[in-house]
Formats: sequence, C-alpha cells, structure tokens
Amino acid sequence: MTESAYDIAILGGGPGGYVAALRAAVKGARVAVVERDRLGGTCVTVGCIPSKALLDSSRAFHTAVHGAEHGITVQGASFDLARAVARKDAVVKQLVGGIEQLFAVRKIALVRGEGTLEGPGRITVRGASGTSRVLARSVIVATGSTVSVPPIAGLAEARPLDSTGALALAKAPARLVVIGAGAIGMELGTFFAEIGTQVTVLEMLPQALAFGDGDLVRIVLRELGRKGVMVHTGARVSAVRRSGAAVTVEAEIGGETKSFEADEVLLGAGRVASLAGVEGAGLAVTRLGITVDQRMRTSVPGIWAIGDCVGDERAPKLAHVASTQAEVAVDDILGEDAAIDYTVIPNVVYTHPELAQVGLTEAQAKERHGDTVKTVRYPFAASGRALALGESAGTLKLVTGPAGRILGVHVAGPLASELVAEAALALRLEATVEDLIATVHAHPTLAEILREACLVAAGTPIHVAR
Ligand SMILES: Cc1cc2nc3c(=O)[nH]c(=O)nc-3n(C[C@H](O)[C@H](O)[C@H](O)COP(=O)(O)OP(=O)(O)OC[C@H]3O[C@@H](n4cnc5c(N)ncnc54)[C@H](O)[C@@H]3O)c2cc1C
Repeated sequence: MTESAYDIAILGGGPGGYVAALRAAVKGARVAVVERDRLGGTCVTVGCIPSKALLDSSRAFHTAVHGAEHGITVQGASFDLARAVARKDAVVKQLVGGIEQLFAVRKIALVRGEGTLEGPGRITVRGASGTSRVLARSVIVATGSTVSVPPIAGLAEARPLDSTGALALAKAPARLVVIGAGAIGMELGTFFAEIGTQVTVLEMLPQALAFGDGDLVRIVLRELGRKGVMVHTGARVSAVRRSGAAVTVEAEIGGETKSFEADEVLLGAGRVASLAGVEGAGLAVTRLGITVDQRMRTSVPGIWAIGDCVGDERAPKLAHVASTQAEVAVDDILGEDAAIDYTVIPNVVYTHPELAQVGLTEAQAKERHGDTVKTVRYPFAASGRALALGESAGTLKLVTGPAGRILGVHVAGPLASELVAEAALALRLEATVEDLIATVHAHPTLAEILREACLVAAGTPIHVAR
C-alpha cells in the first residue's frame, strides 16, 4: 500500500474541505484532500449552485411568459428542461474545473476514492487504482451531509425524488408533491412551479420555512401561491403509494386525512450529517453530528471537523458556515488565534421572491434588550428600483436595540440575498441606524431600502409617511 505524508489531510472536498485546503496551502502547509466524487461537494455539484442556475432559468421563463407589463409577448413559449439542465451542468463543470485548477496551482494533492479515518493522522483511501494511505499531523473531517428520508409508510417504495434527482430530471412532472417546506423544498417547488408544474408542499410544522420571520414568510407564500405553489402546514404525511406513473400522498391535516395525487414526490425534509467513514475514529457525536468546540476541534486530539457533518444547533447546514468553519480550523491547526462566531450568519432562501435574514428576530432581541428594541418595516413598493423591476412585493423588517444599534434585518423581496450582505456588515461592525443613514447609497437601488428603513427607525422617514 502506498503512503504519503502531509501537514494536513482533509476528508471531503465540499465548501468545507476545499476551502480548508486552499487556505492551508496559501499559508504554506502541505495538504491532501480525499474525495470520492467531484471537488466542490454538495454545494457546487448538486446543491447551491445547480439549484440557483435552474432557478435563474425558470425566472427567465416566467418573465417571458408573464412579461406583458414589460411589453413582452411571446407566442408559444416553452421551457426546454433538458437544455436548462445542460446549462446548469456546464456552470457546475466550470466551477469544479476552477477549483481543480486552484488545487493544481497551490500544489494540493487530490486523492480520489472512498476515505476511512482510522484514527488521528491516518486515512485509508480505496480508489479506482487500489488502496492507499494518507498520513498527516492534523486531519479535518469535512464529510458533509446526506438526504434524510422520513419514516413514512410506502415512501421508499414510491421511489421519491431527492434534490439531486430533481435537479437532473429530463421531463418536468405535471404535478409534484414536496414533503417538507424547508429551504430546499421551497426553492425546488419555486423552480417547478415557474416552469408550469402544479406544486403542493406538505409541512408538518405550523409554519413553512420555520426559521423565518412569520410576516415575511407569509409574503413569500402569497407570491408563490400566485405561481402555483400550494403550501399546507400542520400536515403530517402518513402514507405514500405509487401505482404506475402516479403517486398518492396521504396527510393528516387538521384531524382529517387528505389525499394528494402527483406524478412525482420530492423529499424536501432536510439533511443529516454524513458520518460514514469516520465511525471508527472514536469521535464524540450527537444525533446532529460530530461534536466540536469553538475552534472546530473534535473530542480526539489531532482531528478537527467542519461543515454539515458537525453537530451544533447554532450552526445551520449552509455552505458559507462550512467555509467559515474551515478557515477557523485551519488557523487553529497553524497555531493562530481563531474561534467560530455564529452571531452574524446570513440565511437565505432563493424562492422568488427571496427570503433572507441576519441577526436577531424581534422576539430574540426583546429577550436580550427588553423595551429598547424597536422594529420597523419598509415596503419594497416604496422603492423606485423595485417598481422598475416590476417586483414590488416585499418588506424589509429592521430590528434595532439600545442607541439605535442594528440587531437584525429580515427581508422578503427580490434580491433579498444581496441586501442582507450590507446588513451582515452592519451587524458585524455593531453599526447603528445613524451609521447606515450617514452612508450614501446609490439611487435607484434595492439597497436603499435598508437605509430608508433606518430613516424610519430614526423617526425621520423620507419616502414613506411617518
Ligand atoms: C439542493 C440544495 C441546495 C442548497 N442550497 C444552498 C444554498 O443556496 N446556500 C447554502 O449556503 N447552502 C445550500 N445548501 C447546503 C450546502 O450545499 C451545504 O451546507 C454544503 O455543501 C456543506 O458543505 P460541506 O463541505 O460540509 O459538505 P459537502 O458539500 O456535502 O461535501 C462533502 C464532500 O465529502 C465527500 N465525502 C464524504 N464522505 C467521504 C468519504 N468517506 N470519502 C471521500 N469523500 C467523502 C463527499 O463526496 C462530498 O463531496 C444546499 C444543499 C442542497 C442539497
């Protein structure tokens, strides 16, 4: 068996693992990444990027079909799913190639195959060309997550789609039932609805997109309803049956059993830490994943863990969380002062309109800061840019605390994902509404909405009535 030695070995090449490798290499470490599939992991190959590529295609189609207001009339418009999937695949290929090139430039060893962490400093890799061993002073586990399949009678036999399958369909289903109204289920539901599928989403919890601000989630659901996405909350799916090309999904809703007919059923119910390949390493784990401290150290000296495989309820399973943890782990390994801070983590759902938030909710803020907390809302309908876009359904909710400090920003509306970046910086710098007001924003932009909300919070509104 061949053996190669490195400073740092990383198991998994997703946005956790590959970012860790790039950071460690740029700081001079000798690095190896063990990956059984494509570099980029779930995010780049079957997650964040491909889903957004398809959502951009469905948005373009939806605008073409419903573009009368803009003066666009398209006779006989049709959506070529195979072509959109091919474009999505090309975007993914380009990004994976880009990461591979960076690996080559930074001399990072990519060891292809299924890795097993035997213990500190030792990964055995079974690949197409046999078995090899990667040795390293420090190991980072970045094995990601897999789809969770809820225990529902008949579900597995009904051959449900997971997100990976849904992103690669050759033909769009006429009717789709999505089980679970989390980010993945709602984003894919948006995509299929915009290309003409009748979408029903069944969610067990009382609110879809449970992490989101209820008022803003309602705005998103109202707009998605117009596109053909029907969401039932408090819906416990009890059975799934496939007969031929059709699937029947039964759910208990408000004490009654209701049946939903579809051509496909999609699992949108979240993901679980992927621990295959690391079970033998003696790491402490909970049902959420691997236990780590503030520096991403596991219970076993010499082994760090980052990304979706980590079990920490403060850490959402998101790509930018994985990458941030990667930077912390590498810096800690290299002897630098580093610790993870989850207080300013933007969370985005790329439905149309989008939902984005960063910082505290109004309730969380009141718990910590009592009566000093103020919440103001600013409607997208008061923004010239939103009106010009023809997308004025949306609201920004600003939560402020003592001395006008910005504590939380919650947005439902077009490009909410981009608006939340400035809000994250404001929170990070402990900015006040006065700081935001003193910052000149280009006009006309959606970004002005945050400044205008600050003006409302300061009691000096300009473009809305007091
Ligand atoms: C449809 C979908 C859409 C998403 N959209 C977003 C989004 O818009 N924004 C966002 O922030 N997040 C999004 N996510 C979540 C995001 O993809 C994950 O949070 C992110 O990929 C986690 O990164 P990671 O490096 O921890 O794990 P992963 O990206 O899952 O990478 C883990 C890698 O490890 C490899 N691996 C695992 N075990 C082994 C082993 N034993 N041997 C060798 N290789 C192994 C896997 O092949 C994989 O490549 C989405 C997820 C999905 C499914």
